[in-house]
Amino acid sequence: MRETLEDTKMNPQDLPMDDDDHDFWNEAYDILVRYAGASDRPRNRDVFIWSQPTPEFRFGGLLGFGGKFWVNNGKVYISCYIENSDDEKKAIIEETNAALRALLDRRFPACGNCGCRPRNLVGNGLCQHCFKEIVEEIDETE
Ligand SMILES: [Zn+2]
Repeated sequence: MRETLEDTKMNPQDLPMDDDDHDFWNEAYDILVRYAGASDRPRNRDVFIWSQPTPEFRFGGLLGFGGKFWVNNGKVYISCYIENSDDEKKAIIEETNAALRALLDRRFPACGNCGCRPRNLVGNGLCQHCFKEIVEEIDETE
């Protein structure tokens, strides 16, 4: 069945996740383990993967009790409580978030016009809505 544009229209705040995206969350957890000291026990990993996407997930690690992973506004990132923050934690957060951003850009590249992250970009690195608008504009000027 062919999808219409309306069927596939996404809120730009959302990530284009579905059931086969365990790989994405697994890779995200790898980053939390490698950079932010999240527990590498299979059980902790499984709980993380099966909870996603959830707005807020406490993983602790090197950031202590306030160490949280966020899925918000089309972004994935970590933070800790401001009162626990210091230079070391800030560096951990910066490094982890850069790796998470790179993962997101690799798996779900953003539309070059509106910045949404559709499952697939169509021509010229655009989402299909932006692409369609541009094609219509070209048609009108011809
Ligand atoms: Zn777009």
